[in-house]
Amino acid sequence: MIILGIESSCDETAAAVVEDGRKVLSSVIASQVEEHKLYGGVVPEIASRRHSEAIAGVVRQALADSGKPLSQIDAVAVTYAPGLIGALLVGVNFAKGLALSAGLPLIPVHHLRGHIASNYLTSPELEPPFLCLVVSGGHSHIIEVKSYTQLRVLGKTRDDAAGEAFDKAARAMGIPYPGGVEMDRIAEAGNDRAYQLPRPRVDGAPLDFSFSGLKTAVINLLHNAGQKGTEVNLPDLCASYRRAVVDCLTENFLKAAEQTGTQKLVAAGGVSANRLLRRNLQELCAKSGRKLYVPELSLCGDNAAMIASQGYYEYLAGNTAGMELNACAQRSIE
Ligand code: ATP
Ligand code: MG
Ligand code: FE
Repeated sequence: MIILGIESSCDETAAAVVEDGRKVLSSVIASQVEEHKLYGGVVPEIASRRHSEAIAGVVRQALADSGKPLSQIDAVAVTYAPGLIGALLVGVNFAKGLALSAGLPLIPVHHLRGHIASNYLTSPELEPPFLCLVVSGGHSHIIEVKSYTQLRVLGKTRDDAAGEAFDKAARAMGIPYPGGVEMDRIAEAGNDRAYQLPRPRVDGAPLDFSFSGLKTAVINLLHNAGQKGTEVNLPDLCASYRRAVVDCLTENFLKAAEQTGTQKLVAAGGVSANRLLRRNLQELCAKSGRKLYVPELSLCGDNAAMIASQGYYEYLAGNTAGMELNACAQRSIE
């Protein structure tokens, strides 16, 4: 079955053609990041406009690259939630129009389920059940993936997401948006024990995360250094901060693996590209005899191949929609 996937939940306009949920025939991503950089973050109104301008060309390119004309496409899968509402609407309306005019089934896909599916594209042998750490710009979840379409949230962030925690702290350090990427690079040259930072925990909810206090600790540290006129070593601060965030993520993820007795661990989302997170998870899994799966780097961030992949499994489970499909800014992955 050949599925055309469409993604427009944030600042990437993307389309891809995927065969049977596993084989990427084409994947096109038009990123708006350079424009949003000017404002230090994603400006929703600009994002919607750029999606509207780009979407037809991106879809046409994905079809051309795949070597499959529209007549050989079996279904259209689209991200319908969660994300920026104006951005999501562009993809959803385009997908509805295309499905209606071509007489194809329409498959709504949850963006975070798509992030998890990036692993089905990377690791052909991976099948549920497994435990997944979904860490992205807007979400930090520990999820029990019981089947391709049955998921349960075991833990989540109470405030900032991991990606947001990286981006906001980076911004305070003067690193341009999206700072998480650059902070990871700078941190490689730093001493991660140079600055003492907290490892926040959530009382009574051992699998939940809280990152806002950690971000505040960095902002206070920078503020105090500024007042005293002391130099801050950027690589050391980046390394110390990155280790604090990664420690929180890996500690809770391993706790969840022990509690549920899961041997198969999976990471997904933009932050799963983080070098330290990948190294530490690999090490912890090797030590405890668990198997780790991470998406290839090109599939960690937003793309439409992951949407087409998850779309295949949603279709098999009977999850299609009609022309009443609407976009939804917030919706649980369950
Ligand atoms: P969501 O998926 O929750 O809707 P999003 O789609 O905006 O949010 P993603 O595209 O999955 O998020 O990921 C983007 C985030 O990943 C940004 O916050 C970015 O800083 C972060 N990120 C990307 N690469 C790295 C890295 N190497 N280290 C840390 N963070 C990273
Ligand atoms: Mg993005
Ligand atoms: Fe995302």
